[in-house]
Order: sequence, then structure tokens, then C-alpha cells
Amino acid sequence: MTSEKTEIKINELESSRLNHLFGIALSNYTFDSNIEIKLTRTSIKGSTMQAQPIFGFREVFTGLHKYRIRLAKFVRGSETMVVEELPDDVLIGWFAHELGHVKDYENHSFLGMIWFGLRYITSSSFRKKIEHRADQIAIEHGYHKEVLATKKFLFTHEDIDPTYRTKIKKFYMPMRDVEDWIEKNISIDPVD
Ligand SMILES: [Zn+2]
Repeated sequence: MTSEKTEIKINELESSRLNHLFGIALSNYTFDSNIEIKLTRTSIKGSTMQAQPIFGFREVFTGLHKYRIRLAKFVRGSETMVVEELPDDVLIGWFAHELGHVKDYENHSFLGMIWFGLRYITSSSFRKKIEHRADQIAIEHGYHKEVLATKKFLFTHEDIDPTYRTKIKKFYMPMRDVEDWIEKNISIDPVD
């Protein structure tokens, strides 16, 4: 997969549907340098999807170029909602949010990223800011409808675990903010 100037190398999953939807979420993104994104399916403590930089010795000198996006098999707190079976727009919005994190990480040096990680763990206001920013980046890349679909799913689906929903409400951009952005920025309102 290539963008205009830089190359994006993807280590794909064994699911062709997830790879296809990830490709759609990636299609509006460009990055400042050649990057590698490794998609992996694994269990994640306390989350459903997670984007992280991959550090090696080289990255200390060259800055970040490799990232990992991890996907759990099930939506957090559920033993029945399979991530791979979620609707297209929910998955595209979710991937676009994770790619928003990757885009955000791109501007950090190695030490800057260490500091970023420490603040993310220790400061809930910083974490909230970062989660809102990932949504904002995804929205600005044209994924407003999909981000809204992901939010609708997380905020309103009856099978979402209440503990997970409380966490989401605390850290993530509310649906109303996304809807407001769409109203302000999109002349033909696509929200029904
Ligand atoms: Zn996030």
C-alpha cells in the first residue's frame, strides 16, 4: 500500500474482511515518512483496540517508524460480541481512530514518546486530551460518519459492559461533539 510520497507497509491479519476495512480507514491518511503498521490479534487488558509505537534500538536515533495496532477478539467486557463481526462503519471508525493515534505519535521523538506514554498512564486529563485528539484527527481525515457510528455503538449498544462504557464516557469525545462538528463543517447534513 502506498501513499503519494511515502510508503505504508502493513503486516495484515488473516481476516480479509478486517484487512479490507482497515484499508478503507487508511485510504485518507498520509504520513511524513515511510512507516510500518503491524496489525495483530491478541487479548488486551482493559481495551478493545490499541495503537502503540514499536521501539527498537534504531528508533532511539531515527525516530518512530513502526507501529502496532492490536485488536481483541471480543469487545471489552463481552464474551459474545466478536470484533470481526461488528458492522463495517463501526470498524472503519474504530480503525480511523487508532490511525489518528499513529498520526499523533508521528510527531514525537523517541524521548518525547516516552514522556507521552508516562503522561498517558499517570494523567487522566492528558489521556482524555489524547483520546479526543485521535477522534479529531480521524474526523478531519474524512471519517466523521464512521467515527459517529463507532460512538453510537459504544454509547448505546445494550451489550456494552457498563464498566467499559463508564471508561469510554470519561475519556472519549462525546457523540454530541462529533454531531456538532458535522453540523458546522458539512453543508449537507448526513446524520439522520
Ligand atoms: Zn484511542
